[in-house]
Amino acid sequence: MSDSWIVLLGAPGCGKGTQSEFLASDYGFSVISVGDVLRGGKGTYVEERGRTVGELLDSGELLPDAVILNLVRSELNKLGPKEIGKVLFDGFPRTVGQAEGLSSLAKEFGRDIDLVLNFSVGDDIVVRRILGRYKCAGCGKVFNDFFLHPVVSGVCDGCGGVEFERRTDDNEVALKRRLFEYHEKTGPLARYYSNAGVLVDVDASLSLDDVRDAARNILNKKERE
Ligand code: ADP
Repeated sequence: MSDSWIVLLGAPGCGKGTQSEFLASDYGFSVISVGDVLRGGKGTYVEERGRTVGELLDSGELLPDAVILNLVRSELNKLGPKEIGKVLFDGFPRTVGQAEGLSSLAKEFGRDIDLVLNFSVGDDIVVRRILGRYKCAGCGKVFNDFFLHPVVSGVCDGCGGVEFERRTDDNEVALKRRLFEYHEKTGPLARYYSNAGVLVDVDASLSLDDVRDAARNILNKKERE
């Protein structure tokens, strides 16, 4: 895949994070995952009501656009001249304001948004994926109460560890808010990018491997155009 900036759009739990790792390894993209960066700086105060990043994350609310755009700019500035050509944005933009900000950033860096993969999946599936998921505290292997149990109950298949953890925003109250934010604020981006002629839908209710294949097909087709 030649140089391109790609956005992964989709509800919480649609699998963007996993697919961004696949695409990074399959095509050599640098991934900017805004959620991961935020989780690394949970103690920072971000808004006028004096709430920290961690408090906002745990509530499921979106952070202010200005904070997010500064964060993305600083992540882009960390990339070398070769890396800057192939960037994948996971979990950004999530509002029309952020999409407009990204478009200005792209101009500054002499790039365009070449492709937006819109991962679509019903809320019922998302709820079970998110409320059921947990991971091994040792090696990070992911399991799910509904779909994917360790072979031996309570013992990680990957490393034999017995400590597991859940994301602090993977609970019913925060998820309700995350889904609300997604439908209210991020939903309109599908039309925004469709009007720009760069949106392609991906059925994210399929298995991880099938979604990976679908995404690869889209990128390969784009490359041939
Ligand atoms: P999910 O895919 O479950 O939404 P993320 O790790 O991408 O998980 O994001 C976790 C949280 O980080 C969001 O609920 C939100 O509070 C914050 N966040 C992530 N990306 C953005 C963004 N682009 N704008 C505002 N807040 C964001």
